[in-house]
Amino acid sequence: MSEIERESMEVDVLFVGAGPANLAAAYHLMKSVETHNGNAEAEGKEPIEPPVVLVIEKAAGVGDHQLSGAVINPIALRELMPDFVEQGFPTEYVTNDSQFMFFTRGPSIKSPVCPPMFQKNGYHVASLSNVAKWLGEKCEEMGVEIYPGFAAAQILTEGDRVIGVRTGDMGVDRDGNPKPTFQPGMDIVANVTVLGEGVRGTLSKQLIDLFDMHGLNEQSYKTGIKEIWRVKPENHQPGRVIHGSLFPDALHQMDGMWLYDMKDNLVSFGYVTSLTTEDPHNDPHLNAQRFKTIPFMRKLLEGGELVRYGAKCVPMGGLYSQPKLYCNGALLVGDAAGMLNPMKLAGVHMAIKTGMLAAETIVDALAKQDFSTKTLGDYTERYKNSWAYAEHMESRNWEGSIDVSPLFLIGLNMPFLMATKGRGLVDKLKVHASHTAMKKLWELPPSKREKAEFEFDGKLTFSKEHLVGFSGTAHESDQPHHLKVADPDVCSTICTRDYGNPCESFCPAAVYEMVEDPEQPGIKKLFIHHENCVHCKTCDIADPYQIITWTPPEGGEGPDYTQM
Ligand SMILES: Cc1cc2nc3c(=O)[nH]c(=O)nc-3n(C[C@H](O)[C@H](O)[C@H](O)COP(=O)(O)OP(=O)(O)OC[C@H]3O[C@@H](n4cnc5c(N)ncnc54)[C@H](O)[C@@H]3O)c2cc1C
Repeated sequence: MSEIERESMEVDVLFVGAGPANLAAAYHLMKSVETHNGNAEAEGKEPIEPPVVLVIEKAAGVGDHQLSGAVINPIALRELMPDFVEQGFPTEYVTNDSQFMFFTRGPSIKSPVCPPMFQKNGYHVASLSNVAKWLGEKCEEMGVEIYPGFAAAQILTEGDRVIGVRTGDMGVDRDGNPKPTFQPGMDIVANVTVLGEGVRGTLSKQLIDLFDMHGLNEQSYKTGIKEIWRVKPENHQPGRVIHGSLFPDALHQMDGMWLYDMKDNLVSFGYVTSLTTEDPHNDPHLNAQRFKTIPFMRKLLEGGELVRYGAKCVPMGGLYSQPKLYCNGALLVGDAAGMLNPMKLAGVHMAIKTGMLAAETIVDALAKQDFSTKTLGDYTERYKNSWAYAEHMESRNWEGSIDVSPLFLIGLNMPFLMATKGRGLVDKLKVHASHTAMKKLWELPPSKREKAEFEFDGKLTFSKEHLVGFSGTAHESDQPHHLKVADPDVCSTICTRDYGNPCESFCPAAVYEMVEDPEQPGIKKLFIHHENCVHCKTCDIADPYQIITWTPPEGGEGPDYTQM
């Protein structure tokens, strides 16, 4: 298969991933070239040849893999397009009632003051899927080409320079043989490749390792479970946005929830579970189901119906976990560069802003025809001079404090973080890679060694298998697994013994199952239901042996988050 002939295509700028970061970048690039050329004569500058700009996206359509519903800080949107509202931005509501709640399994208490990080009045509630579609249309109006259904599978390099990407082969059977529908992936060669693949991007991971672009700290992650419910009209409160945590659990593991209202009596409920945990049975899906059984949630969802389910990770490390943002021929933007603000649990505005800063750097590179680090390195300078960096400075020791312990953050360090604009008691607190926190079963107290039992009632709480049906996910079954397990023997032997196969717990889509091995009675082996995969990346992150690698399946497959 490696010697097959491949088509090659050349562009000036290639964007991998059609999320808010790259779509904002592509749009801003075209606008900035237009502005540069409009002013060139007056300013005595050379005009720039309008670039050929391509965005590729693994989903079947732009926005299909955007986990719908978001509360968006409009600061970056205003810079991207000052008249974004008039231009048809798909705002559903503007928030005016930010709340923080202390939840318990009994009563819930609304904090009399909403902490500044959860103060989101004036933010725009929108379906992120619709935002991506809208941005995609704006890009196309500016002459950007967008190819949905194309998954980038591999970085292409020449020496120490990125020269583009290879897209994945299509029409390969489960044993790796070409089917009659076989279409080899193509090589897309570009002067600049911008990776905006979102959290734990496949190529971004390759690039960071290849050119040793690691940040000061490791990256840590949470898995976000999202459910959209249609609630009774009397339970619908447009403009409200609630954040909160369940106590006393949050003193041990810093998980949290959010909730806001969308059009048509829809409520978007999300629950984030830390993947930096001692607990091998840590189960983001189960934590979300359990949370729905507290009285506050029961009352809200009673008489409502589940409409959609999805899951996706968020990068939580913050500033000190961000990688180097550039190398020769390539830039990293948005969540692929760990740009989400972990303290505010918000990344869309950061994605848009870093996309814009990358675009401005590329305009310079096009003008100078220099795509080396000499010019692309200015992206870091632009970032350091931006409000995005200032915002990250204020949350730079947030995750590090949790890494010490949630009790340390809540009990001791929080007031210092606020008073010292993010420095806290000690600066540059360490953040460890999420998978390194997991303890072996015998290191846990006996009560924590077994998975806790939970009965799903089928009305408020549902099994993973049931919920996957609400994610619209679809994958051709006759194709090589896109979830590569380097050594499945580890699963049947030491992982069973040491951790009790945490993949069965941490995957929110019932992809991993240990089944009886007919050839070795009494031994279980790993079975992968890859067709269930919702592309959340939890397995790639949480596996304690780091032998699971998430790779993109055939272009056009995966969840469908458009109907939310
Ligand atoms: C459950 C949840 C709720 C959230 N809520 C909020 C919120 O309310 N407000 C907020 O500001 N932020 C929120 N965020 C964070 C926000 O969604 C992200 O920070 C933001 O979407 C990052 O944008 P991005 O463009 O960097 O990446 P993404 O939005 O992840 O987009 C990346 C795109 O690249 C595509 N892609 C990936 N790999 C490849 C490949 N190899 N080839 C081709 N295409 C590829 C993906 O399919 C995807 O479309 C939330 C995140 C989660 C998980």
